[in-house]
Amino acid sequence: MVMGSNPMSALTSTKPTPIPTHEQDDHDSPSSTALLSFNTDSSSSSSSSSPSPSSNKTLFVSLILITSIALSTSFAFAFLFFTSSSSCSSSSLPPLTPSLVPRPLAKLKRPIVLLLSSDGFRFGYQFKTSTPNIARLIANGTEAETGLIPVFPSLTFPNHYSIATGLYPAYHGIINNHFLDPLSGEAFYMGSHDPKWWLGEPLWETVVNNGLKAATYFWPGSEVKKGPWTCPVGFCRHYNGSVPFEERVDAVLSYFDLPSDEIPDFMTLYFEDPDHQGHKVGADDPEITDAVARIDSMIGRLIKGLEQRGVFEDVSVIMVGDHGMVGTCDKKLIFLDDLAPWIEIPKDWVLTHTPVLAIRPPSGYDPADVVRKMNEGLSSGKVDNGKNLKVYLKQDLPSRLHYAASDRIPPIIGLIEEGFKVEQKKTKRQECGGSHGYDNAVFSMRTIFIGHGPRFARGRKIPSFENVQIYNLVTSILNIKGAPNNGSTTFAESVLLSGA
Ligand SMILES: [Zn+2]
Repeated sequence: MVMGSNPMSALTSTKPTPIPTHEQDDHDSPSSTALLSFNTDSSSSSSSSSPSPSSNKTLFVSLILITSIALSTSFAFAFLFFTSSSSCSSSSLPPLTPSLVPRPLAKLKRPIVLLLSSDGFRFGYQFKTSTPNIARLIANGTEAETGLIPVFPSLTFPNHYSIATGLYPAYHGIINNHFLDPLSGEAFYMGSHDPKWWLGEPLWETVVNNGLKAATYFWPGSEVKKGPWTCPVGFCRHYNGSVPFEERVDAVLSYFDLPSDEIPDFMTLYFEDPDHQGHKVGADDPEITDAVARIDSMIGRLIKGLEQRGVFEDVSVIMVGDHGMVGTCDKKLIFLDDLAPWIEIPKDWVLTHTPVLAIRPPSGYDPADVVRKMNEGLSSGKVDNGKNLKVYLKQDLPSRLHYAASDRIPPIIGLIEEGFKVEQKKTKRQECGGSHGYDNAVFSMRTIFIGHGPRFARGRKIPSFENVQIYNLVTSILNIKGAPNNGSTTFAESVLLSGA
């Protein structure tokens, strides 16, 4: 791992150069596309054993008959089932008729993608309560069966921008929700709109680069003017968390009332919930259940509006979250001051305490020495909860985290076990809540992925994958050329229905 040899490269270039793709690093990324060996549909298996037409005509006719009978029977059962139970869950649905080719557009003249994010929608929230609208997208679309894997750190800004660019945070530059530029000392915060922070090429820029139109209704980075993306009035909303969700949905729907050639080809839509509640009350609380039900009702409002305009089946709706959520509580704390017998860590060395511990010691201190002394203390058995924090030089972090190749990432990173928090010192304040940002291999950090539209098979389940794959998925649906990124070039074709 080459660190620091070219300190400016990651900061100054808007097109990061050394971008490892999934093809290159599948060996250390067990949860990536290497798992994409899913069995597409029962009918697709016939292609592997292609029988000769002369000897198998009878067999083929018989199979058609058997399939027809089986389908009729299953539909009959499905009918009985639905009429006898109105509260069935999506998992009870019979497999829908597989279709291996894209469905033709009924009304729209070209593909349109709506990318929708529900912040902090932990994988599994969809089972907390009745979510008929999300269930409808799942039943008629393609779902990551065990959730979408965020990038590390599993925080809001790094992840939304990874979804938008297909790049890991080290390459797109937003390495945390807030951080310091080590060269200028300048601070990045969530309201920073200077393009110098935002590297890579987000989807809205790619779309415009290809001569198409984009519209963003909130998304981290979308207000930043980059290349031909000027954040145009009426098609690029400036973030305002007090805008009611209904108003956001209705604004997106109104784009479909424009003359055909003015409808944006790519749109984003963002909801702060259920992340907002998750931080206050953790992942398991009636407040979360209510927030999930509300998000579901917004999906219902969206579906209804698209149906009224006759375009629901034409639009590619991609519903994602940025990360999950885990409960944190007062007993799960690690205090840096407890490490004093081994090494003193002053507060001003620490960029973020939790859930990613990020430390930049001043010059004159050897980061490797700091790491060694910290880990000595943490593993001594004398520091409360010490075994739940492990400190690394960034270049020694597991390579699957892809969290080293940027000078914005401080030299010392601590990985904290899920649900634990690092604080500077003991205080009287005791609190329980929820958090995210932990190792992206932790299951509680997973979120949802559902794709619904002409290029997504109905009722298909695919293995979990990292959100850097979504960029190529969108450019493939729009049939445009994307920028280099960390996603796999084969992912989109393995997930999307393709014309044949
Ligand atoms: Zn978030």
